[in-house]
Amino acid sequence: MSESFAPTSYDWPQTETWFTPACRCFEQYGALTDRGVPLLHAEQQDTSCRAWSIVVERVERAAVEQPEVFEPLAGLTDCQRSEVVALPATISRLKRVRVLSLCRSAVSSLPAAIGEMESLEILDIYQSYRLHYLPFELTRCSLLKDSRISTRALFGNYKRIAPFPDLLDRSNSESLRALAPKDCSVCGSPVSEGSGLPRWITRRVGTDFVPLLLVVCSSPCIDALSRAVPDARVHSGGTGSAEWGPRR
Ligand SMILES: [Zn+2]
Ligand SMILES: [Zn+2]
Repeated sequence: MSESFAPTSYDWPQTETWFTPACRCFEQYGALTDRGVPLLHAEQQDTSCRAWSIVVERVERAAVEQPEVFEPLAGLTDCQRSEVVALPATISRLKRVRVLSLCRSAVSSLPAAIGEMESLEILDIYQSYRLHYLPFELTRCSLLKDSRISTRALFGNYKRIAPFPDLLDRSNSESLRALAPKDCSVCGSPVSEGSGLPRWITRRVGTDFVPLLLVVCSSPCIDALSRAVPDARVHSGGTGSAEWGPRR
């Protein structure tokens, strides 16, 4: 740990809002796996709203000022919070941010670019109940050691026993097109639109086991990942996949 900064002193703050970003993904599909399989959130970020402009401006400013703690939604009204469902890929420029705080957000996906936040040590997405998984690229943040995640909101979690969305189901293809990284999550080769293979894997991120979405260029890359992490299953979700979720 650096002497100039003690991230353990980060005190997991409560936000000043009681905004509750609920969704019906788990209620609809219930606790029994045979009731169905959830879908990926399909909402796309409205880039014309004021709240999004504020977030984009804050990322721009942080890219210049390089703060150690970045809280993109601080001070936003509940209405503005509800309008921010993603983060801009420009967060890749936040090379010195050690704490990313996104608690009580309505964010339903994080960009693969988060993997380029090379100083990230703490990820706080507590009570972001629409965020059911994280991008695999987060595993590239080699300093990440602490996290605060509402684990009951995660796909495959042991409380809800809901399966993972079926990544090969056509109803998810539009959401995947919007999410898919341009490079293979494993080897980094460019992946042309529509040719990537989406998969799930559950791995430790910070202090939690979290479902991660990856998009790879080829089946050899899936095999390479399976060999590298033999205790984790690389799968495409669907009926019966709940058991591959986080176990605690
Ligand atoms: Zn949901
Ligand atoms: Zn690859």
